[in-house]
Amino acid sequence: MTYRELYLDLKHQAIMAEKEESAVTILFLETAQFTYKDLIINYDSNIPNDIYVKIMQRFTAYIKDNIPVQYILGYTYFYGIKIKVNTAVLIPRPETEILVEKALGCLEERINPKIIDIGCGSGAIALALKKNLPCADITAVDISPLAIETAQANAVELKLNICFMVSDLFSNVVSKFDVIVSNPPYLAGEYEAESLVRNNEPPIALYAPDKGLYYYYKILTEAPHYLNNPGLILLEIPTNKAEDIMAILAQFGLENKSTIEKDLNNQNRILIIKYD
Ligand code: GLN
Repeated sequence: MTYRELYLDLKHQAIMAEKEESAVTILFLETAQFTYKDLIINYDSNIPNDIYVKIMQRFTAYIKDNIPVQYILGYTYFYGIKIKVNTAVLIPRPETEILVEKALGCLEERINPKIIDIGCGSGAIALALKKNLPCADITAVDISPLAIETAQANAVELKLNICFMVSDLFSNVVSKFDVIVSNPPYLAGEYEAESLVRNNEPPIALYAPDKGLYYYYKILTEAPHYLNNPGLILLEIPTNKAEDIMAILAQFGLENKSTIEKDLNNQNRILIIKYD
């Protein structure tokens, strides 16, 4: 069988099963260790049997077992770096890259900022920041020891030096930082998650009480104890609740210090608060 035959057949099957064609492309290319250009060049070559078997196993895991491609592969890409993932951590999303981009934009002038990532999961945000700001002093915490283990493994793999710690928000944090970043859990309940997310990703990283807003109250309440002045907070927010977020900011008297940035789909996504 040629690459062309299998690729087109699997894409067709994905469409029939109402699954993502793009997921099939990722599985196919990553398993064959091809770029898209390699695939086109090799379109009419026969697929080696070991590659064929592996593609089929992974395709079945995606289509029949409803497992996200990133967990099937065991990694994903985030802000240009390869991040190992497993079911103990949320799969880093492309929209979260905007948080990294905005943080880097805000920190252009700073030589060695002290940054903390709250609820770091796989470590994606902290690792992307460290990669692009080698002099930054970065701490990353998560309530889940398994998440911290994964994040630590990523840091070792990427040779990036970050201080990891198991901590329920700030519970084990003792020092102050110039910047707090977080992509906290913010879904109000399972009804806000699509089945691929609901059935696979860790609930502790997805859901939050108070309509999904609990961690915004919590972080804004505690932040002043852990933030230097001037200081900066960047938080990913649920795009459908920007108004609730604005109401929370008003409660904390932060509405004039805050801006909300949009993601690539033009959705409100990143909250930036500048304390001065
Ligand atoms: N962004 C996640 C989702 O879209 C929700 C949880 C989070 O990232 N904080 O499923």
